[in-house]
Order: sequence, then structure tokens, then C-alpha cells
Amino acid sequence: MHKTREFHRQSIDDPDTFWRREAQRIHWETPFEQVLDYSNPPFARWFVGGRTNLCYNAIDRWLDTQADQPALIWVSTEVEQEIVYTRAELSREVNAAAAILKSLGVSRGDRVLIYLPMIPQAAFFMLASARIGAIHSVVFGGFAAHNLAQRIDGAQPKVVISTDAGSRGGKAIAYKPLLDQAMKQSKCAPEHVVIVDRGLIPYQAVAGRDLDYAQLRTRYLDVAVPVEWMESNDPSYVLYTSGTTGNPKGVQRDTGGYAVALCTSMDYIFGGKPGDVYFSASDIGWVVGHSYVIYGPLLNGQASVMYEGLPTRPDAAILWKIIEQYRVKALFCAPTAIRVLKKHDPALLTRHDLSCLDRIYLAGEPLDELTGRWISEALGKPVIDNYWQTETGWPILSAQPGVEEIELRFGSPSTPAYGFDVRVIDEVTGLDSGPNQKGVVAIQPPLPPGALSTIWDDDARFVHTYFESFPGRMLYSTFDWGLVDEDGYWYILGRTDDVINVAGHRLGTREIEESVNIHPAVAESAVVGVSDSTKGQVAMAFAVLRHPDDLLEAGASERLANEIKTIIEQRNGAVARPAQISFVNSLPKTRSGKVLRRAIVALCEGRDPGDLTTIEDPSALDQIRATL
Ligand code: AMP
Repeated sequence: MHKTREFHRQSIDDPDTFWRREAQRIHWETPFEQVLDYSNPPFARWFVGGRTNLCYNAIDRWLDTQADQPALIWVSTEVEQEIVYTRAELSREVNAAAAILKSLGVSRGDRVLIYLPMIPQAAFFMLASARIGAIHSVVFGGFAAHNLAQRIDGAQPKVVISTDAGSRGGKAIAYKPLLDQAMKQSKCAPEHVVIVDRGLIPYQAVAGRDLDYAQLRTRYLDVAVPVEWMESNDPSYVLYTSGTTGNPKGVQRDTGGYAVALCTSMDYIFGGKPGDVYFSASDIGWVVGHSYVIYGPLLNGQASVMYEGLPTRPDAAILWKIIEQYRVKALFCAPTAIRVLKKHDPALLTRHDLSCLDRIYLAGEPLDELTGRWISEALGKPVIDNYWQTETGWPILSAQPGVEEIELRFGSPSTPAYGFDVRVIDEVTGLDSGPNQKGVVAIQPPLPPGALSTIWDDDARFVHTYFESFPGRMLYSTFDWGLVDEDGYWYILGRTDDVINVAGHRLGTREIEESVNIHPAVAESAVVGVSDSTKGQVAMAFAVLRHPDDLLEAGASERLANEIKTIIEQRNGAVARPAQISFVNSLPKTRSGKVLRRAIVALCEGRDPGDLTTIEDPSALDQIRATL
């Protein structure tokens, strides 16, 4: 690991030289004056004074050499369609989308909210927003009306882009009705909505508000929209992520730092070169979709596969079929997708010629050793576990084969990526932990280029949430437990807070509890994440009723549980639906009134609940045990 260590050391000891060199990977319309301005910690401003544009770097810059080569490869097994857009064709669509946005009055600094499934128009409008200097806020399609309304109010968009429906497992998933509800709930609903009509479900257009994308596209096709040159630190997008409060945080990304960081990662971490095909099977509603379906590959002159469909339909070889057909070099997905494949015929793993594929990258949730080993051995390919967060925008910990091929160890996302001064910190003393000592994974600021610059509209929350966890030290907390072994390999050991991870989707238990508590019969509730062999974790809910006698009626418990599930689905989306909702007379709490979540989780997972000396009422745990 000598080279990786040395490379990392240079990036930390002399960030100025390191990032000045790496910044040459992108086009700067105006060169930057300063690599890093860190005069106002913990706010880091990278490439100060430089002017650039994400869309220009993703598209225009490659038109001279790659106009006729694939740039965006869209495969949908949901509607059985495949479209390959060359860089020139992508440019045409993005310009049309940019012209549409401009015609609706969107200009520099305005927000555009994108609520779309995995269809090419999502890419067109993200890139179009970047082209004209607007800030996009993409909302995951699995979210429901309440989540969407919260995000509309947060970003206050000038325009929303949406569709009639998505599709999952061949069934239409309504978008338009949820959008209509969200627009009603929102305090800042925009004047215009552009609807991409896929013809999946009938819908009623709202007169004067809803505009048809196909008609607008015809009107604006072949209009060339000039690039808006942005200062490196101008925001490019906001992406909401769950935390420990019911109120999601808008992670704000800059422009120049993000472009530079992603280009480096495509090369050093993902081993990609211009012209290579890259396939990230993530949704654009998540950070992986932003960084590694859209921006990373395109900025680096690579083609990106965008996939709408399940990993198991029409059969569990679909990922491998796509890889063979499009000569994919690197696959990125979540461990859950691989755990799902494990349940299918192993012969499907060898049906396709995967000689084009160099490596598989897994991230978004802990990768258990068994799953990692299984897929690596079955395919004969290295599996790179990489660890990061919405906030950081690109991997914090990962093997970096573009720097050096190192020995991979199952269960470990290897070592810190260049630019991240990562530490394991003792929660109580705030001091660095020694080898094999568990602590909180933290980053010594300044955060590198590409990481969040602040929380949208809330600098104070940014500082307070991330940088005030340790006594006497200003360190960024990841809120993950971790340790480093004596050889320098890192291990991630779960969250320190109440955030859970269901199939790679990050959810705040607080948000789900708020939904449970909305039911008029509920007095209070606790929602916890419990290990699950396929999804990593699932939510389980325990509710205390205002009138416990409500349960005496025949079938009452099932009816109430279903009503609560419906509320959760409507507010938080289907991903948040608990595997079980149980009713108890009281929740296990400390004498100071804090719910003992760790004890509940332990019981649900069949483990010993540990030290219970502070518990108020031990019988509360017996009740939980009885429901399992
Ligand atoms: P998100 O912001 O949705 O990407 O979720 C980030 C969180 O997912 C991290 O803070 C970790 O808890 C978890 N996570 C992501 N990647 C990994 C990984 N490779 N190993 C373990 N946990 C991970």
C-alpha cells in the first residue's frame, strides 16, 4: 500500500499543489486565483475565482473528439426500450431542455425541482439546469407527497419537472397524483410543471400550470443555449438527505470542486478512461445517481448506462446482459442488489461474457463479507467496497486501483481516499483512537473538493450538525462507528445516530416516528432499524396507544397497523414501510426519558440488550420481546 499511502499523504500535506494539478482535468473558462480559501472554518472554498460549468465539461468539451460516440445509454426493462444517445445527441436534448427552462423564466441561481424516474429526461434536465446556472433539486421517485412537499418548500423551485408515472416490476407507479397532492400541501408551489408524458397512466393536466414536455421539446429542438459560466463556489445542486431530526437536510454542492473531484475519482478509484463505458445501477434520486450516473462518467468523457428496472427482471442475469451488450468496464451498485441475486440460479452469473468488466464497486451500506466474497468468486472479478455519504459526494474510503492495485480484504472498504484526512475518534475524550480501537469516523477539515459546501439556506445547521460532536476539536463527524486495523485497513461498524439504511436508502427513524404519531390513536412510538439478510436493515415500529382498550375489538391491531402503514407510505414512501408494527403499553426508556433504542434493536435481533441499569420500567422490554 506504499503508493496509495504516499499519494494520500501528499494530498493532505500539500493540498495546494495536489489539487492545483488535479484541477487541470477540467476546462476553466477563467482560471482560479486561489486553490483553497479556508479563512472561515469549517467552510472551504475551492478554486476561488475560477469560472467553469458542469454541463460544458460533461458535454461540450467532448464534442470535438467524441460527438458520435455513446454518451448516455438508456436501458429500460420496465417499458422494454433502449436508447443510445451519442454526445452530440445528448447535447441537442440538453440544449432543448435548457431552452425550455429559459422559456419558463428560469435563470442563474433559480432552482429546478426534478421528480422523475430513471428516464433520460432526468439527465437532460439536470444537465440543462447546470448549463444555465440553475440549481437542481432531484427528489427520489420512491418518496411520497409529504416528502416532496417538504423539498418543494425547502428549495422553492421556479419550475418542477415530473411525469405521469414510473414503473416497477412492470407495474405503473403514479407520480402525477403525488405531485398534485404535494403542490397543494406546499407553501411555495411554483407556477409551472413540465410533464414528461410516458403514457403509463391517464392524468388530468392542470390548466395553465402543467405543460407538455414533448410539445415544448419540438418547439425548442435545435436552439443552442449559451453556457453560463459559474464561479467555482456557486451552488450546482441541492440534494436532501435524512438525519436525526424529522427535517431533512439539503446538502449543497459547489461547481468547480465537484467537477474536479469527480474527474479524479473516475480515474483513480474507478479506473475509467475517456471512451470507457461505466454502469452505476443507482437511482438519480440518490447521491450515487448524481455523482456516478450523471456527472462523474460524463465529465470524464465516459459513457454512462442509465438503467430503469429491477436486477431480477426479466431474469437475474439482466445486469450481466447489459454489461456484455454495452462492453461495460466498471459496475457500481448497492450490496442489496447482489444479496438479491444470491437467491437465484448461480448459472445466471456465467451466462454472459463478462471479459470487458474490470471490477465491481459496492457502496451505500455495509457490505458483509459473505456477499462480497460470493460475487467476487462467482464472477472472478475484484469487488471494491467503498464507503461514503451524500455529504461527501464521492468515496471517503476505497481502494484506488488507478493509483495502485492493493490487496482487497472482504469486510473492509480499504483505506482513505486522497483528500480525506480521516480519523477514528474516541467519542468521550475526542482524541484519536489507536489501531483496532473502535471510535467515530471523523474528517479533519477542510473537507476536500466535491464535499458539501453547506446545508442549503442554513449555514448554522451545517456547523452545528457536523462539526460540534467532539470536545475541543472541530472535526466533521460521519456519525459512523469504525476502526482501523494494524495494517491500515478500515472497517465501518454501523451508525452512531438514529439513521437507518434500508437497501441502501438512508432513512431517519425520527421521520418515520412522526408519521406513526400522526395516527390519532397513537400516543408515542419508537422506530428502529433491525438487521435483515437481504435489505441490510428494515424498520420496525413499536407504538403506544392513547387508549389501550382500542385493541380489544376483534381485528383492531391489524386494522390499526394497516392504517399506520398507509400513513407512512403516503408521507415517507414505500421504502420506509416497517416490516412490523406492534403495540405495547410503554416504551423502554431511561429515567431521564430517552428511548433505549439500542436495547430494542438488540431484542429484535435476538441479542442480549446489554446494560439496563438506567431503565425506568424493565417490563417494557418484556412487552417488546413478546411481540417478536
Ligand atoms: P447515504 O448518504 O445515503 O449515501 O448514506 C451514507 C451512509 O451509508 C454512511 O454514513 C454509512 O452509514 C453507510 N455506508 C455507505 N457506504 C458504506 C460502506 N461501504 N460500508 C458501510 N457503510 C456504508
